[in-house]
Parts: sequence; structure tokens; C-alpha cells
Amino acid sequence: MGIILDKAPMIARPIPGGQVLLTTADYFIDLGRKYSVWPLTFGLACCAIEMMVAYAGRFDFDRLGVIPRPSPRQADLLLIAGTVTKKMAGPIQEIYHQMPEPRFVISMGSCANCGGPYFDSYSVVKGVDRIIPVDVYIPGCPPRPEALIYGVLELQKKITRMKLAKGGGATHQQEKGSRDLAGSNA
Ligand code: SF4
Repeated sequence: MGIILDKAPMIARPIPGGQVLLTTADYFIDLGRKYSVWPLTFGLACCAIEMMVAYAGRFDFDRLGVIPRPSPRQADLLLIAGTVTKKMAGPIQEIYHQMPEPRFVISMGSCANCGGPYFDSYSVVKGVDRIIPVDVYIPGCPPRPEALIYGVLELQKKITRMKLAKGGGATHQQEKGSRDLAGSNA
């Protein structure tokens, strides 16, 4: 209770002898989601090293409630870090669809965003958003761990705007399953 009052004193109303909390279900559900973002970490190349560093002692990602889960059944964030080859596109989509709703995706680094230095390669997907919807893009080659932490903070802002009345919290793109793209040249 103390943590809730620290984070959101505006929902406490004084009554004789104490306080009562008065708010919407959306607020409480979003609050829980926001502080328990469990990522399935999908390290594909050098950006994965920066992602791992974010969990080390200096940056201590766990303090934001971002605790890695190696199972798609228990994760709500898919963290794509590195070069997405066409060979890996299928497994990424399969894992994404095994995750429960609402699920989120962060694309970390130029390779995952758009192909990066390998944009012209025959074997590289030109952005992971060609195969699954992305919520937050983190630029850089590679982005530093601070950038990843900033990306998660931006995702938390997005989560606080979710409404149960709109499709159980999933965005339109999440319901659709992917942004695109049957027949594209991903
Ligand atoms: S964006 Fe740069 S650092 Fe990241 S995976 Fe691609 S080449 Fe490696």
C-alpha cells in the first residue's frame, strides 16, 4: 500500500480515520503491467552484448522490474537485439505468437530496426517490424545499455495509456498479429 501511495498519491482520498483509494480498473492494471515487464530476450548479434550488460551490476535492469524470462508463455515483452536474418524470421514469429496478450516488442539497434549495416544483404530482414509489430525502436549500432533502459521507460509510458475497453488492452496492430506483410520482400 505504501508503494502505491508513493507512486500515485492522487488516487488517495482522505476519510475520517484514514484514506480510501479511488481510481479506475485501467489504472491499477496498467500500474501492475508497467512495473512487471518481463522480457523474453532474443539476442541475435552484437547488440545482445549491450542487452546483457544492462542486467549486470552497473545498470541493474532488475530494479525496474524487468526480469528476463526464457519462456514465451511467461513473457510480455519480446526484446529483439541484433541482426534478424531471414532464417530466424520464422522462429521469431512463432515465439511472438506463443506469447500471451497484451504483448510488446522492442527493437534494439539499427539491424533490428531496418537491417543496419546489412541492409543490402540478401539474407537479412530489413527491420523486424516487417514480420511482427514493434512498440519501441532503439536506434544505434550498438545502442548503449542506458538507451535500452530508456526504451523500456518509454514502453512503460505506452502501457499507462492502455484501456481495457479497447480490445482488452491490445493495440490494433497487436490484435492483427503483425504489421504486414504477406508477400513483402522482407
Ligand atoms: S546494430 Fe550494430 S551492434 Fe547491433 S547487431 Fe547490428 S551491427 Fe551489431
